[in-house]
This record gives sequence, structure tokens and C-alpha cells, in this order.
Amino acid sequence: TDPQRIRNFCIIAHIDHGKSTLADRMLQLTGVVEERQMRAQYLDRMDIERERGITIKSQAVRLPWTVREGDLAGESYVLNMIDTPGHVDFSYEVSRSLAACEGAILLVDAAQGIEAQTLANLYLALENDLHIIPVLNKIDLPAAQPDKYAEELAHLIGGKPEECLRVSGKTGSGVAELLDEIVRQFQPPSGDPAAPPRALIFDSVYDIYRGVVTYVRMMDGRIEARDRLTMMSTGATHELLELGVISPEPTKSPALGVGEVGYLITGVKDVRQSKVGDTVTALHRPADEPLGGYSDPKPMVYSGLYPIDGSDYPDLRDALDKLKLNDAALVYEPETSAALGFGFRCGFLGLLHLEIIRERLEREFNLDLISTAPNVVYRVELEDNTEHVVTNPSEYPTGKVASVYEPVVRATVLTPNDFVGAVMEICQSRRGKLLGMDYLSADRVELRYTLPLAEIIFDFFDQLKSRTRGYASLDYEPSGEQAADLVKVDILLHGEPVDAFSAIVHKDKAYAYGVQLTTKLRKLIPRQQFEVPIQAAIGTKIIARENIRAMRKDVLAKCYGGDITRKRKLLEKQKEGKKRMKMVGRVEVPQEAFIAALSTS
Ligand code: GDP
Ligand code: MG
Repeated sequence: TDPQRIRNFCIIAHIDHGKSTLADRMLQLTGVVEERQMRAQYLDRMDIERERGITIKSQAVRLPWTVREGDLAGESYVLNMIDTPGHVDFSYEVSRSLAACEGAILLVDAAQGIEAQTLANLYLALENDLHIIPVLNKIDLPAAQPDKYAEELAHLIGGKPEECLRVSGKTGSGVAELLDEIVRQFQPPSGDPAAPPRALIFDSVYDIYRGVVTYVRMMDGRIEARDRLTMMSTGATHELLELGVISPEPTKSPALGVGEVGYLITGVKDVRQSKVGDTVTALHRPADEPLGGYSDPKPMVYSGLYPIDGSDYPDLRDALDKLKLNDAALVYEPETSAALGFGFRCGFLGLLHLEIIRERLEREFNLDLISTAPNVVYRVELEDNTEHVVTNPSEYPTGKVASVYEPVVRATVLTPNDFVGAVMEICQSRRGKLLGMDYLSADRVELRYTLPLAEIIFDFFDQLKSRTRGYASLDYEPSGEQAADLVKVDILLHGEPVDAFSAIVHKDKAYAYGVQLTTKLRKLIPRQQFEVPIQAAIGTKIIARENIRAMRKDVLAKCYGGDITRKRKLLEKQKEGKKRMKMVGRVEVPQEAFIAALSTS
């Protein structure tokens, strides 16, 4: 295709503002998907995506479009629509998808207005020099206020309110006009057709039948069906088995030229060999320089995953191996816990990523799992000048600590004016530092904070939502690390540390954590033959203590020697319970107690 006839674009929006629905209408209107094949959110292929209504992996689809109105009426174009994941955990993938486009549709729900992810995605799009078309969606809703929000949008991106298009992804109204505008306003791709090929990988997915399918945008040159390919970050070469475009199912084609968007299949079995952000070139005519912006995915949040039934451990390992094929960001290594047995320490991009993996393990692989409280990655410098990266609080280095560093994020909170006080209070109590505050309109405020990531991963979002009656929205991006007054709190049962409950917390919050955990465990752990102290400690210093009193009577005592069947039942019950007991030192703890203590924290 002549690059002049190509337009590459993406849709960016806050979650639920209607991106997938609008994409569906575009598929229909361009005739790519026939009416009878249409199902809601056609491009959200994973089950979890469709159920949760979120887009996890981006996808690209080629839409033929003949302009309907105006001076270009009757002219035919190829529009490549690149769907981007909307959630902060996946912002690196979003930024790579944006780098594959010349333009972005900034979609805003006309009943909601601008939200935090609208802003975060807009900033990413501007960083990538994309042209923006502001679009108000859901104008069919009675509660829509397009005039009000057109003002807000124009104020934000510096245009006129009339320049905002108005559409309904639900009814299809305005969508043909939008497709015309895409042709008119977005630049055709530039790039040197004669140069050695450079293709940007913006997505990479594992398919059980075909291996890894790599989605690329050609920036320069041309890749042909017979080429051998080189991945520029590693120098690895691969044979090209198939190349094509998505419309909306994969369709082979002989070559991909400048500006085109398509897929490559090389027979590799692991997405790590074909990483998002990497540059693909041809072995016989390699490019000198890779495209900019590549970085390795870096886990931000760690958690231990354990099978509830210890005999499921090999299955858990197999399941993780399978998921890894499709997820370059997932890392894990075996770990043993005195409390929970054999499991894995897993690294994730963020909490949503963790939840998705957990849910897939339980659902697709039929595993019952218990996960330890998530923690961030700490860097500890000791006075002997050694440095330790801590991904598991129970492996905190012993020895004299010089300083501890924790990851921080730059958070953007958008809130109606009335809740500014509440938002500030929450951020303050979480050790936030205010960076700035702007009025986007008379009643909508943008607050920017630096916050420790560790403070955000525990119910920050829930609190924010409940304290602002659901009106505030949040987005954040990693922003380096800071030194902080952090300590490791251990929970001891009869003098033995219970690894699963060790936590790294701020000094001011250590006492509260200790009290909370010891109280909780006292209620959950049954009495033993002897008295069992439950203590919280920082090093050798005890900061909280509870006691489980010794058991006075045996389990049959309350039967008064009477009902024999009842007696037997009790004995059996006790036997069954014993099987699931974990020994911590001399103390027997039912596994349920650990599960309950972990799941309600
Ligand atoms: P996404 O998270 O941005 O992909 O949003 P979805 O496309 O999944 O839409 C979120 C919700 O808004 C769904 O319940 C849609 O049915 C609904 N929705 C999307 N577009 C429209 C629209 O134009 N009008 C109305 N009334 N509802 C819409
Ligand atoms: Mg969606």
C-alpha cells in the first residue's frame, strides 16, 4: 500500500468510556466484520478481558475506508487501528502502541468528562508527538453533557470546543464522520522505503498452534515473506514463517512496506524472544540503529503464590511455565515457606497484573491458591557497603542497615472540587508529597503527588473511591526510588518467625501492623497444650504481644462420655483437621488460620 493511503491510529480513553464499543462499530461500518459475526468487544479476545470489560493485550486491525464526505469523498484508504490496554500496569505497552501511530482519538464519556487515565494517556500520546482528535462518546445517554465537556476538552488540549466530535459507539451515530476525520487530520506515515527495514514490535502474543505472533509497525524499509529476521536487542535471528495483516482475522501477505501494520510468525515459542518495544530488522540488510524507547519489563510488585493442596505444586509450576510463554513481564522462582509449604515468589507489573495471573491460574488451570500480601521491591544498603535487592520481606538482610530505598510513583488524581480535602488527607496519610495542583475547569481539580508505591498497592484506590463517592480517578507511573525510614516487622509464634507474615513497613506504621497481625492470629489459631505467645518484633525488639492460653480440656471432654457417634465424629474431624495442620516450631496451626490471616489483611 502507498504510505500516503495509510493512517495509523489508536483510541485512548479512561476505562469504561467506550473504547471497545467504538472499535466494534468501526469494524462493522468498514465491513471488516459482518453483522452476523459481530459479538460485543470483538477485539478483546481473552475471556477475562471480556468478562471484566477491560483490554489487556493490544491488538491491531486493518480497516479499509472510503471517505464519504468532503473533498476526499470517494478516495480509499487503509486505516490501521491499534487497540491499547487502558490500565496503568500496562503503561509501557500503551506507550509502544502509541509509538506505532501517527494519531490518537481521545475518547471521553460525555456523561463523565475527563478522568485520570484520559490525562495520563493524553500525556503519553503527546510525548509520542501524536495528533489528537478529541471525541465525546455516549451522546445517546440522557445524562450526556457534550457542551460542558467539549469546553473542558478544548481547554485541556488547546483547541476550540466545536472541534470535538460527538459520537455514540452504541448507536453508531457520528462514527462515519469520525473515520473521515481520521483520514483528513492524521498524517500519513513517513519513513524511508529504501532504507534497511526497521519494524517496531508493539505486541507479542503466544498462540498454541502457531507459536508467538508478533505485531509490528514498519517504520522504514520492507520485510518480505522469505526474509530472515534479526531482533536488534539481542541479535537473535529467526526464520520468518509467515507474515500478514489482521483484518480482523490474520491474512497472509507477501510483504509489509513502510507505514504498514501487520504480524510476523517466526516459530519462536516464548514471547521473551520477541519483546514489545524491540526492533526487527532483516538479516541480509540489517539496520544500524534500533528504534528508540525500548526497555525490559520490570516487575514492580511481588507476591508468594502457594497451592492450598501441596500436591498441586507441580501443576502450579507447569501452569506458570505456560503463562510465561505469553507474558514477558511475569517472573517467578521457587520458594518455600514454613507456614505455606512449597510455592513460588512471583513478580508482576502491578496489582491488576497479579490479579489477572492469579485468576487465570485458578480458572484455566483449576488451581486453588493462597497468595501472600503483595510487596514492592526494596534496595537495602548495609554498613559493610553491600547492597541487597529484597523481593521477599522474610529475606531482608541481617546486619546493620545504612539505608533502605523504596520505589515511588508520580500519581495524578482527578477530583471534583468538593473532595480536594479528602484526597489530600488520604495522600498525606500515605506519605505523599504534593507536587502541584491545577483547575481543569471551575469544579474539576488535578492533583499531582509523589507517593511510595507500597502505599498505593494496599486499598489506596478503594479508599480514594469511597472517600470521594466514586468521583475521583487515579493514574500513576513509576518515578524512581527514595530513601525511607523502613523496618522489617516479624511475627513470631512461640518464638519462631512465621515467614509469610514478615513485612517491610514504615517506622511509624510498624506498631499498628504488629498489633493488627498478632490480634488477628490470636483469634484464628486454636489453643495448644501449652501457652503460645504471638509477638511482633523489629529485630530483637518486641513491639506487640498476644497470648494463646493453654488448652484445658481435650476434645472429647465436652461430650460427657455420652453419645458415642458424636464422639466418633469429633475424633474423625480432629484427624482430618490434623492433616492440614502446619507445624511452626512446636505449634500446630491449621492452614485455614494462615489463609484467613492473609486474605483479610
Ligand atoms: P472501554 O473500557 O473503554 O473499552 O469501554 P467499553 O466499550 O467496554 O464500554 C463500557 C460500557 O459503556 C459498556 O457497558 C458499554 O455498553 C457502554 N457504552 C459504550 N459506548 C456507549 C455509548 O455510546 N452509549 C451508551 N449508552 N453506552 C455505551
Ligand atoms: Mg475495552
